[in-house]
Amino acid sequence: MRHPIVAGNWKMHGSRVENARLVEELLAGCPATPAAACVVCPPFVYLQELARLLRDSAFSLGGQDVCADAQGAFTGEVSAAMLKDVGCEYVIVGHSERRLLYRESDQLIARKFAAAHARGLIPILCVGEQLADREAGRTREVVARQLEVVLELCGASALGQGVVAYEPVWAIGTGRNATPEQAQEVQAFIRARIAARDARIAAATRILYGGSVKAGNAAELFAMPDVDGGLIGGASLKADEFLAILATARPG
Ligand code: PEP
Repeated sequence: MRHPIVAGNWKMHGSRVENARLVEELLAGCPATPAAACVVCPPFVYLQELARLLRDSAFSLGGQDVCADAQGAFTGEVSAAMLKDVGCEYVIVGHSERRLLYRESDQLIARKFAAAHARGLIPILCVGEQLADREAGRTREVVARQLEVVLELCGASALGQGVVAYEPVWAIGTGRNATPEQAQEVQAFIRARIAARDARIAAATRILYGGSVKAGNAAELFAMPDVDGGLIGGASLKADEFLAILATARPG
């Protein structure tokens, strides 16, 4: 039985006032014992404030990125220890916006995963193909490559203590979600790749789907056997949408 996760990636949105309002609405509408682990990932500068606002609630906190190095002369970066220090439990690594806009390589992302894991954070590793990859029949090849680099560096045990998020790039922020069957097909493939190293770890690893998840499509996506919740962008900024998505999560 895998406990699902519903994580909100706020990206570069919000302000102190907007965040406080959103958190107030989330806390007011969230059941005392939600069926999924709930995570919010605000921009770095708001983490400490969010840790205070979410104290003793059902919500955990996550960073949107992390430095691969532990400390030192890395201007602008934030380390895994710092994320822990301000109350994070999770951190997103390898989001497609980091891969594409900031040219992060598979190797750098694997090092970020390792740094987060070493500090006791739960890394949420994002993998997913671009539209051209899908149209050329290269989805499995791309996802396998992104996954294998992390498996090689960190091992199956570390990966299984983290979370994988399948996020087809063509579905992120586009309003065009993968169909439940498309998500299931790739997520079963991801589980099989992990199982090739360790079947027990693969069976326990949480694999999320992300890409235009909304209240209206979450239930059918989360009903798929290898979809253990979601990584939610735009819809996580609206309390009613996020709570409605959360309400559809079921242990798988
Ligand atoms: C994301 O940012 O990871 C994401 C899935 O965004 P959206 O839900 O807006 O497609």
